[in-house]
Amino acid sequence: MALPAMYRRMRVAKLSTQFRDAVEIVTQPMPTPGPGELLVRNRYIGINASDVNYTAGRYNPGTAPPFNIGFEAVGQVVRTGGSDCGDIKEGDAIAIMYDGSFSEYNVVPARRTFRLPRLDAGYVPLLVSALTAAISLEELGDLAPGKTVLVTAAAGGTGQFAVQVAKAAGCKVLGTCSTDEKVRFLRELGCDHAINYKTEDLKKVLRDEYPAGVDCIYESVGGDTFDTCVKSLATHGNLIIIGFITGYENDLGFPMGRYAGMPPMLLRRSASVRGFFLFHHTKKWKSHFLQLASLYEQGKLKSLVDDGSQSGRAPFRGIDSIPDAVEYLYSKQSQGKVVVDLWKDEPSAGTRSRL
Ligand code: NAP
Repeated sequence: MALPAMYRRMRVAKLSTQFRDAVEIVTQPMPTPGPGELLVRNRYIGINASDVNYTAGRYNPGTAPPFNIGFEAVGQVVRTGGSDCGDIKEGDAIAIMYDGSFSEYNVVPARRTFRLPRLDAGYVPLLVSALTAAISLEELGDLAPGKTVLVTAAAGGTGQFAVQVAKAAGCKVLGTCSTDEKVRFLRELGCDHAINYKTEDLKKVLRDEYPAGVDCIYESVGGDTFDTCVKSLATHGNLIIIGFITGYENDLGFPMGRYAGMPPMLLRRSASVRGFFLFHHTKKWKSHFLQLASLYEQGKLKSLVDDGSQSGRAPFRGIDSIPDAVEYLYSKQSQGKVVVDLWKDEPSAGTRSRL
């Protein structure tokens, strides 16, 4: 397969939490993969809330721009770096967990990829988003049939999987979201109690309907939501800090929970709060991805992709649309995983925007 001499890459040109201001697109010569590396033509790239933490330099403090950006992709292998790449060959579809995916082409280590049966946008959510839910709940969730699990931002990229993982463990699952459309989506996912926090008072719902507290909380919103969640923990309950999106676009720092009574409350309830960061769990990625992909292929796991078209806009296609896609994720309108199709000039492979 002949390759173009040049390709386009997005990179961080200046540190900022405002994604659009931080990035630039440059045209570069096509690279050659070394031993154990693959040259991939990225097709579907995943947008993550943390892309703005990355542009702000929070992932690699001290690293000066320019640097590459983008955590994950599904693409096609166009060159291999020889026998060190195992049985992966040119033309294969692969899923990639490696830096620099916001680029038309990328050189990636073969060991950070998973071979796929086809190029399918539905595999993108199974990377960062589903791996975070599956590994964190397995390691820290202490899930068991009959327990209650609360997922915040439940209709989002990672939330959709936390709901399904907890449900599959036999738990009663509660999920928060901000629209009635998301409530419907959460019910379709199997969420037992979807709470629209714009029309219902989350604190009151938890106090009135779950007086014994919630056993496990998958918390990714932060600020006041974090405080409400901590106060709602059951005896022996645990809260997993997945993120605190309310603070990511804030240049002055994260608005952490302000609940001063947290230590005595945790003590009185023998409850715990623990953090989870996916990039500390690389050894578990492969086994969990293969399991998630198998469930997806059997139709036992739903993987919702949102290409923006549900909101009446044109679907996100091409590298230039990435800032729009990041802003869409922050608009709170997205459902499931926000994905951009980089193959702008080729027929769409049918990026699904609903279940
Ligand atoms: P997402 O959930 O697809 O999108 C963000 C959702 O968060 C929004 O749709 C919105 O849903 C909710 N939200 C609540 N307050 C918000 C605010 N102030 N601004 C914007 N959105 C707000 O995003 P994601 O990429 O999957 O990430 C979700 C969270 O998981 C983030 O905190 C992220 O950092 C974290 N995460 C952590 C790890 C890890 O390794 N720890 C890995 C992946 C993701 P509603 O409107 O329905 O509330």
